[in-house]
Amino acid sequence: MTISRRQLLGTAAAATAVVKAAGAQKRPAPLAVSSANGLKAVELAVRRMQQGIDPLDAAIAGVNLVEDDPNDMTVGYGGVPNEECVVQLDACVMHGPTARAGAVASLEGVRNPTKVAKLVMETTDHVLLVGPGARHFASMNGFAVENLLTEKARKVWLFWKQNLSEKDKWLEPDAEHYDPELKAFIEEFGWDEFRKPKTGGTIHLSALDARGDLAGCTSTSGLFFKMPGRVGDSPIIGAGCFTDNEVGSAGSTGRGEANILVSGGHLTVELMRQGKHPREACLMTLERIAKTTREKRLLDAKGRPNFGIRFYAVNKRGDYGSASMYAFSSSGKRAQFAVADASGARREDCLFLFERPS
Ligand code: ASP
Repeated sequence: MTISRRQLLGTAAAATAVVKAAGAQKRPAPLAVSSANGLKAVELAVRRMQQGIDPLDAAIAGVNLVEDDPNDMTVGYGGVPNEECVVQLDACVMHGPTARAGAVASLEGVRNPTKVAKLVMETTDHVLLVGPGARHFASMNGFAVENLLTEKARKVWLFWKQNLSEKDKWLEPDAEHYDPELKAFIEEFGWDEFRKPKTGGTIHLSALDARGDLAGCTSTSGLFFKMPGRVGDSPIIGAGCFTDNEVGSAGSTGRGEANILVSGGHLTVELMRQGKHPREACLMTLERIAKTTREKRLLDAKGRPNFGIRFYAVNKRGDYGSASMYAFSSSGKRAQFAVADASGARREDCLFLFERPS
């Protein structure tokens, strides 16, 4: 491993100072924290909790906004499809007060997999249903089969397919005549990342109500152009999400394979149990990932993980925070998260382990 402990701590200490300066301090509940794409989601979740609604129902209501939004191509309706142009969704929910959870993976034709995950939790003896079984369960619960592939997502897939190899029968399209929707996608996600389809996106949302009850919820269409049936961290309880009503709730976005290997959601909650502030707990989980990522293909020239991953957490007292492997994405965007409380919804900068991908 080429990253020294000193290097890690040095970066972390500098980052802590940055966040302290940014003023991420304790706020009164109800409170919701999420990935940066969840600004409206955290706002709605807090509003619902202010009306006395259970934190899990509030979290799901918030996440449903993003699942329904065709412009968010990383979650629900309009999500980028898999290798075979099929949208397969993963999601989980965890309810602090009852210590129960439900999840679905590789679910097709339902734009709100979080609603199905909640039904798995409430109406079955199981925690996780996948693929055709999850689809059947959704149908039995009245969810129609809906086409989740938007025109934009279809064009993105076709463009990826056409550019995938010079050795196949697909011809590369002429750069002069790219469709405007395709251009917008390439601008948002970056040409290089698009040509090497490593990117994805997800929403995680953790919520704390005024009674001190907690809940968490994660939803995703997974890594772009993933293999059919590939399941990431998002529906895995203990990885993409974990909630303990005595301690806190945490979740993740980014390279799911890396998160699964350290059970990052659970680890972050356990670090909070030991007294770590949520943002420190998130950062320590990233340290663990950096230290245990040993395959060369996953490391850059400096021995740092060559992928993005972020954690989000809130504790029972209402302290919250988030940390990102990198402060800036390869397209230069500052890593942020969304948070809402009595003073409204806003984005704040994530703590970070490393500044920029090389
Ligand atoms: N965590 C998601 C997954 O691995 C993808 C992402 O958030 O980028 O499926």
